[in-house]
Parts: sequence; structure tokens; C-alpha cells
Amino acid sequence: MQPTFYNTMARAKEAFAPADGATVRMYTCGPTVHDFAHIGNFRAYVFEDLLRRFLKSCGWEVVQVMNLTDVDDKTIRKSRAAGLPLRTYTKTFSDAFFADLDALRIERAEYYPAATDHVPDMIALIQRLIDKGFAYRSDDGSVYFGIDRYDAYGRLARVDKSGLRPGARVAQDEYEKESLADFALWKAWDETDGDVVWDAPWGRGRPGWHIECSAMSMRYLGESFDIHTGGQDNIFPHHEDEIAQSEAATGKPFARFWLHCAHLVVDGRKMSKSLGNFFTLRDLREKGWSGREIRYGLLSTHYRQGLNFTFDSLGAARSALQRLDEFRGRLASAAGAAAPGPLPSWAQASPALFHDALADDLNISAALGVLFDLVHVGNRAVDSGDAKPADAAAVVALLDSWDRVLGVLAPGEEAADDAAVELARLRDEARKARNWAEADRLRGELAARGWVVQDTAQGAKLKRK
Ligand code: AMP
Ligand code: ZN
Repeated sequence: MQPTFYNTMARAKEAFAPADGATVRMYTCGPTVHDFAHIGNFRAYVFEDLLRRFLKSCGWEVVQVMNLTDVDDKTIRKSRAAGLPLRTYTKTFSDAFFADLDALRIERAEYYPAATDHVPDMIALIQRLIDKGFAYRSDDGSVYFGIDRYDAYGRLARVDKSGLRPGARVAQDEYEKESLADFALWKAWDETDGDVVWDAPWGRGRPGWHIECSAMSMRYLGESFDIHTGGQDNIFPHHEDEIAQSEAATGKPFARFWLHCAHLVVDGRKMSKSLGNFFTLRDLREKGWSGREIRYGLLSTHYRQGLNFTFDSLGAARSALQRLDEFRGRLASAAGAAAPGPLPSWAQASPALFHDALADDLNISAALGVLFDLVHVGNRAVDSGDAKPADAAAVVALLDSWDRVLGVLAPGEEAADDAAVELARLRDEARKARNWAEADRLRGELAARGWVVQDTAQGAKLKRK
């Protein structure tokens, strides 16, 4: 079945295939590396990972670009407060981001362009917009996009342009629909920018956030590409402004499909840094939740449905995974060394049902329903002795193929988080000093965080309980 995805541009599900029939070109707005990403951000990245893996399972190649926003209002403000050069400051958080992706089993995109490496592309794009009359220089040397010069402005977010105040401008990267105005493509240098500055034909300064994504997506994917994604907060102004800049400059359609995930919420409010109601991945891992459990928790609600974060839902993820691990273990022992045969009758319908569920706008609840139905009938077949070794091996192979899409089924190893590694190091030291009481205390602390210590010839190793 050909997939359909809900295209925010159309406010409807539409049948999807890549424009060239073979390779899906996809741009995913990445992290602003001013701090550790919170699990709300990771809801977006896990949704995009499911999308990517599913598209591959349909037989298409995927070229995915995820940018790193390493220069914007926030990164500059915080690096200055920390007294560090911008690049030094952001590197800590981009390194942490990649470690977090691994813990959540998020596949690597093909490209992770950093904004600061692409400023010449942004300058060239702004110049094109000035040359075509869509952008203008303001008195202070900034450059703004004139939204009344571009008739199609507002299609994605369906903004009401009736209240537009001619000439009104907004310099910040983030603003509300009510503040609809010409937005900054280039921000003239002022003292709050410190040494973060580039030369442009119209004056010194730095790019605005929106132009970064237009320039980097077109650099790696071409002027028109298949899918652009983000969280729903990106619809306005970020994606609206990206479309305006890109289509005004090229005269071509920008992205064909726009997919947005609903927010991870806490007590009904979006999880965000500014509200202070957030957990980073690190916070949760230090409380003993594994990356795999957190991934399951983020993945198992449909991406367009609000996801309320609770520890109960993480507990449910843990139980679901235990059930799946148990099933897989039973099948593996029933299979022994047998090679997979054809799927047994009780599993034959499952592959198509699983695919069709996800092909319906990534209906994960239906896909997990197919999985748990298989667990149910499979357990019965093993109980009654009906599952021959070759049958069981075939179902294990089916689970492996599903896991290339879900990324949660294989128990697998998990790298310990920094805090656990530090506790293990302290325990090693205590043991060397023959301070057994302290070593035991540290072992207990690690256990409370979900880690078992195994002493090997190469030193202590941490394993998930
Ligand atoms: P930022 O680093 O703020 O630019 O956000 C990175 C990505 O996370 C964007 O795609 C946002 O839309 C997304 N995002 C931010 N907060 C949440 C949330 N609470 N739930 C889901 N996605 C979010
Ligand atoms: Zn973006």
C-alpha cells in the first residue's frame, strides 16, 4: 500500500512517493545547541526517525538533512553569559546531542550541517532576495523580508493578513502570529553580538534563524525536495518564513510535504526550556530509565496526538518491552539453531498489516496492535507445542525486520550515561583503596539508577538491569 501522510500544507492526508520515484529528500529542523535537548525535542526527532526508517522499509533511499542551529539569539546570549567563544560553547551541546541520539537509537541522518559553516550560502540567498525586490535593507544595516511583496505569504500557517501593518518589522527569531511583520534575514551587528559577526555586501552582522534552514536545505537537497518536518511550534513563523524566502528566491515549490508532530506536554503545557517544565534525556537516564524505554514511550503515541509526559507512561513502556523481550526469548529457544522457514499460518497476515498500519500516516498504535496480536497468538502456539523450530525462527526474522522500523525490539547494549560512568570510576577508586563499604554504597547507587556492575579484567563494565 502506498503511504499517505498528513500534509500540513493541505490539512489533509495525501498519497506520498518521492518526486524522482527512488530517493526521498527530507529536511528535519534540528536542535538549537544552546543547552541539552529535552525529551520534548526528542519526541520530534524520534518521530522523524520512525518516518525515515519507515520510508526505507518501503524500498526508497532516504537522504535526510538535520541542521544544527549554532548561531541565533539564544546561542549568542548564553555563550556570552558563559564567557566562552560561540563555537566552544555550542560544541558541548552538539556532542551531547549526538550521544543522546545514540542512546535513543535514532539513526544518523546523512548530513548535519552547522549554520556557522554555511553563512556564505545564506548571504547569497539574501542577495538573491534583495535583487528580486523581496527584501530590503533597513537603516541600521539589517535586511528584512517584505511580506507584502510576496503574495503567497501565510499559506502554511493560514495567517490572517488583514491586520498587517505596512512596514512593521520584527527582529526576534520567534514571534506570534499577532505580531505578523517583515522578518529579519540578516541582523546588523550590535554590542550584544560580541565577536559573532560576518561581513556581507550590505553590512556586518549575522543571519536570522529562518534563512539558515532555507540555505542549508537547498544546499544539500536542491531547490525543491520531498519532505520537511518539525514540531508544530515550527509551523509559524519558522516554516512559513522558510517557504517565503525559498520560493520567492527560486520561483519553485520548496517542500512538497510538511509533517509536524504535536507537542510533548506536561500538565497540558508544552514541555519547553522557557516554562522550566522539562526533563533532559540525561535526567531520565539518571533516574534509571533506559534510552530504549524512553524511545518506546515517545514512539508509541501517534505523532499528531499530544503526548502527556508521565512516569506512569514510562512504566508502561517498561512493561511492554518486558513482554516483547519474553516473547522473543521464548521464540529464540523454540527456534534453536533452525533456519527460518516460511511464516507459520498464524503470522502470515502480519507483515502486510504492519506495513499498512504505518502507511496510514504512521499509525503506530495500529502497528503496535499488530505486534501484540502476534505476541498473543505466538505465545499460544509455543504453549501448545505448535511452533516448529523453523516457524519460530521465521517469526524472529520478522521481528528483526520490524525492528529496522521501530528500533525498540532488540534488547541490545546501552552506553552508560556520564553520571553512571563517574560513579563506576569512584567505585573503582574505592576498591583500589580497599574501602569496601564505600564501593558497596556506590554499587547500590548505580543499581538504583538501573545499572549492574560487572568486574572484568579490563575494569568495571556497566550493564542495564
Ligand atoms: P529547538 O531546539 O527549540 O529549535 O527545537 C528542536 C525541535 O524540537 C523542533 O522541531 C521543535 O519543534 C521540537 N520541539 C520543541 N519542543 C517540543 C515539544 N514539547 N514537543 C515536541 N516537539 C518539540
Ligand atoms: Zn529549521
